[in-house]
Parts: sequence; C-alpha cells; structure tokens
Amino acid sequence: MTTERPPFPDRRDYIVILAGVLPHVIVEDNGCWSWPRGHNDQYSTIRVRGDDGRRHMYLVHRLWIQARGTAAGREAHHRCLNKGCVNPAHIVSVTAKQHRVEHARIRHQNAA
Ligand SMILES: [Zn+2]
Ligand SMILES: [Zn+2]
Repeated sequence: MTTERPPFPDRRDYIVILAGVLPHVIVEDNGCWSWPRGHNDQYSTIRVRGDDGRRHMYLVHRLWIQARGTAAGREAHHRCLNKGCVNPAHIVSVTAKQHRVEHARIRHQNAA
C-alpha cells in the first residue's frame, strides 16, 4: 500500500490537480472512470510536484476526498469496488472501521 504523500496546505490545490486529471479519464459503459496513466497495486496514480520541489505519487481516488476536505484520518472507499476507478460519484470517505465492516459485508454477500 502506498503511503500518503505530504498533503497540500490548500484544498484548492487538489481541485487544480483534479482539473488536470479530468481530460484524461475514460468513461466506461458501467459508469466507472478509467485512468490510462500510472497505477500502483491497481490503484490509479498521478505524479505531482510538491512544495519541496520533488515529484510525489498520489492516489487519484484519494484526491477527491482531499478536495472535499473529508480525508483527514479517513479512508477512501470505492462503492463500485473497482480499485482503479476515479469517478468521484463512486468514491466515499469512511473511517477505517466502517471500511473493514463494509468489505466484510461485501465478502459475506459474495460468499452467499
Ligand atoms: Zn467506479
Ligand atoms: Zn473499500
């Protein structure tokens, strides 16, 4: 799992980054947005220059919850269960506990 890169001080920084992401997404028939560029462990990634002047890797789906201001201490969950999806409508912020419970529920459902 990728470690979270130093957060930007201003939420608007995330909106600027995401504005650069949008022209490259591929809208799939199922509503998911694919990312044709970098991936890490199936998650879509982007390299962004930080305040330190160096390029860091960010997880694109987490940028949405950063932009919403709901990222601190929370995890981003894909409601579509497609790890590579970058559609903000499919990405919600949850606590670590909620996230474990949700995935346990999904596993249970799939096993039934
Ligand atoms: Zn999706
Ligand atoms: Zn999840």
